[in-house]
Amino acid sequence: NYIQLQDLVQLGKIGAGNSGTVVKALHVPDSKIVAKKTIPVEQNNSTIINQLVRELSIVKNVKPHENIITFYGAYYNQHINNEIIILMEYSDCGSLDKILSVYKRFVQRGTVSNKKTWFNELTISKISHGVLNGLDHLYRQYKIIHRDIKPSNVLINSKGQIKLCDFGVSKKLVNSIADTFVGTSTYMSPERIQGNVYSIKGDVWSLGLMIIELVTGEFPLGGHNDTPDGILDLLQRIVNEPSPRLPKDRVFSKELTDFVNRCCIKNERERSSINELLHHDLILKYATASKDDKFRHWCKKIKSKIKEDKNLKREALERAKLE
Ligand code: ATP
Ligand code: MG
Repeated sequence: NYIQLQDLVQLGKIGAGNSGTVVKALHVPDSKIVAKKTIPVEQNNSTIINQLVRELSIVKNVKPHENIITFYGAYYNQHINNEIIILMEYSDCGSLDKILSVYKRFVQRGTVSNKKTWFNELTISKISHGVLNGLDHLYRQYKIIHRDIKPSNVLINSKGQIKLCDFGVSKKLVNSIADTFVGTSTYMSPERIQGNVYSIKGDVWSLGLMIIELVTGEFPLGGHNDTPDGILDLLQRIVNEPSPRLPKDRVFSKELTDFVNRCCIKNERERSSINELLHHDLILKYATASKDDKFRHWCKKIKSKIKEDKNLKREALERAKLE
């Protein structure tokens, strides 16, 4: 491992998910900021630990790529703590779900309109392009299928880069299916829910759902996902109901509509492939240097919004303390 854990100074907490917690840390020798994910593991569960170690050894071989979060190392010391630590590249605009929640807090404060999220067609095109490129690279070079495309696993930085994280690492860490999904929306494709062998096209379905969520601000399949029953109901609806679509009460370009429709085809064989989508008009329409500039500009604006939100939250907390 290129980084030694004792050379890290922990900064703030970034977030937490089902499997672990992510914090920002400073690598003192080269003043580099990294993201540190800690996953607690059961002490004697050697099956899971062995599987994780095997999976991480695959991830370790993935070389730096513009659409993949760079992996810096994984650590497991059963004598100290029952946890696995993963160090990776830090993304300064965070994940797409985080950007959505910052947007929603501005809506609540009444300073931003709730008609449209910050994700316009240009940003959807750029994000989709980055996701597809990353997926294509992982599959072509390493035969890795991501399997967990969702807003919290797509990261953005202020250089205007889109990066995938959390690919190929076992979901078996978490106890049961119900536990895994309580409180999270599921982006799983119908064929995967039905237990059929699934291919990289499952990730295309997830991308489609993610786009609908980014433009509307809401997970498209709705429903209650905070109980095991709610989750089972949601899974059933994904399989039985018609494909999710962009909402009818707003106008979207034919390129964006067609792109989403092609991702959200329930039958895996009819769904577009990664390669087809990489050549879709929605992607080509924004593939120019001036659109790249515009997107970089958007990312910088998002970064300043995140900072502003953090300050507003801190001020509100201070006020609450005084009262
Ligand atoms: P789940 O456990 O269901 O996968 P999750 O993806 O939200 O959910 P984590 O992977 O533990 O959970 O990540 C927690 C949060 O940390 C993410 O939502 C994201 O905002 C943030 N995060 C993760 N990795 C990074 C990173 N490399 N740079 C910046 N932020 C990150
Ligand atoms: Mg994640």
